[in-house]
Amino acid sequence: MLRTNTCGELRIEDVSKEVTLCGWVQKSRDLGGMTFIDLRDRYGLTQLVFNLDWDSNLCKQARALGREFVLQITGTVIERENKNKNTPSGDIEIKVSVLTILNSSLTPPFTIEDDTDGGDELRMKYRYLDLRRAMVRKNLELRHRIAIETRNYLDKLNFIEVETPVLIKSTPEGARDFVVPSRMNKNQFYALPQSPQTFKQLLMVSGFDRYYQIVKCFRDEDLRADRQPEFTQIDCEMSFVEQEDILNTFEGLLVYLFKTVKNIDIPKIPRMSYAQAMKHYGNDKPDTRFEMKLIDLNSVCKGKNFNLFNEAELIIGLCATGAAEYTRKQLDELTEWVKRPQIGASGLVYVRYQNDGTLKSSVDKFYSEEDLKKWAEVCDAKKGDLILVLAGNKHEIRKAASELRLELGNRLGLRDKNKFSCLWVVDFPLIEWNEGDPNVLASLSGRWHAKHHPFTSPKKEDLYIINSMISEIREEIIADRPMNYKVQIPRAMAYDIVVNGVEIGGGSIRIHNKDLQGKMFEILGFSKEEAQKQFGFLMNAFEFGAPPHGGIALGFDRLCSMFGGADSIRDFIAFPKNNSGRDVMIDAPSEISAEQLDELEIELKKQP
Ligand code: ASP
Repeated sequence: MLRTNTCGELRIEDVSKEVTLCGWVQKSRDLGGMTFIDLRDRYGLTQLVFNLDWDSNLCKQARALGREFVLQITGTVIERENKNKNTPSGDIEIKVSVLTILNSSLTPPFTIEDDTDGGDELRMKYRYLDLRRAMVRKNLELRHRIAIETRNYLDKLNFIEVETPVLIKSTPEGARDFVVPSRMNKNQFYALPQSPQTFKQLLMVSGFDRYYQIVKCFRDEDLRADRQPEFTQIDCEMSFVEQEDILNTFEGLLVYLFKTVKNIDIPKIPRMSYAQAMKHYGNDKPDTRFEMKLIDLNSVCKGKNFNLFNEAELIIGLCATGAAEYTRKQLDELTEWVKRPQIGASGLVYVRYQNDGTLKSSVDKFYSEEDLKKWAEVCDAKKGDLILVLAGNKHEIRKAASELRLELGNRLGLRDKNKFSCLWVVDFPLIEWNEGDPNVLASLSGRWHAKHHPFTSPKKEDLYIINSMISEIREEIIADRPMNYKVQIPRAMAYDIVVNGVEIGGGSIRIHNKDLQGKMFEILGFSKEEAQKQFGFLMNAFEFGAPPHGGIALGFDRLCSMFGGADSIRDFIAFPKNNSGRDVMIDAPSEISAEQLDELEIELKKQP
């Protein structure tokens, strides 16, 4: 080894030891006859000291060192006069006797400090330098810790980690696939897996009974904040289990991770049905760090002269505790906020439940104080609270109210990053009508779409709905599509785990019966031939003794960012892509040579 110690481990007990350290020059300071250098490595910082009186040559050499030079030094550990309480090795310094420059460095394009002067794009271009910053390094250390603890937990429960292939077959379900041309199989393409779903199910057929993999997945989606085209999942599958067993096993994983990684004891995770989540929070991943439910005000708001409310399908109230003192300006601001196209409400009505017990609203013209008292009652509002009311079409207004709820949560400081609230959302709809989603191929719109994925099992008590849908489809009543909205939608044995309003993972009990799987494909609009072509391998496997099974996948990047108290997953990925899906450091994606294209027999479309 070129070193005896790291830059993070020497303490006062080590005084008078002779040590050799290696690292990068973080900072150097000249104070007359003395020169101080902070030497940095992965483990921390150690101060080096040089003195003109001890060795003038060495001191001059030290003064000439630039930031990020790589050094090897040998010297004696001495007690510092001015101790630095902010650094673990701040009680000591090294009186250097030998200095070797292992490598020089250009001046870095930004400062390697927590509070760097480098912008996002610049830091991504030089990500290897960005990763030298303690903050980013700590994120990757946290990621490593969570991965190790996940493996420990699952290993103890007999889960086996199996690698599944990265070059697989494209299936036009879910998001868009990334595709890879095959040179040896002309005009044919592999796809990168959106998840190892079918493989893990096949592993169950093989009898592996408890599988996991910390695995890269790829989805060619339009990138929203907090999405990466490649991301990592903790992917798991179990045989001979029911939904309850999976929830318990993975609740156990979360409890274990919170305890070992963050030393937090989380309480038993509550369950909420999808229908309740939509009703009370307008959202299938509610942030339950705070209450503020969506209250249906139809019964107390309708029937007066206020047309906006009379014509609305749904009137929703939100009670913001202690916010009655919001100024006119703040309320105008919130009104503008809900009217933004992303939120899409037409306006916002407010009622202040003032501290003197009187009620003041923006619709006093239409509603008496008695009326408003009823609103307050339904909303369980107290003196000092503010009621905000939105009205409109059911679906859209729930969504808007859900956004407003989160915004109020932010403004009222109810979304503390150090507080964690976990929730299982269960009983998701099995299917949804796809009106055209920008993230799926256009040919899939105007069809039923699997809410989770096509292998998800319906709830036993809703199987009859599947059967009646199948008879309708077979009778071709389906020709008139809009009627499908009125069809009762079967619920799935599917569940999501939500933490602080973020979907951390989801899974389901799978169909393990060929006939039921066939019916599912039929509902999803696959012909028998198409289903056989796309998923024949799985349906055939189901004929060789498939055990009942189910699983879950947790978003590993999100889990890491949540544990790190950050909003973005990007800082928890060593080499992330930017918002246009580019890696600006290696400059990918990029063109390939004419020779490569030739070999693949791919002809590029001329760009206009
Ligand atoms: N494969 C699913 C997903 O990636 C998770 C699961 O059902 O296990 O969302």
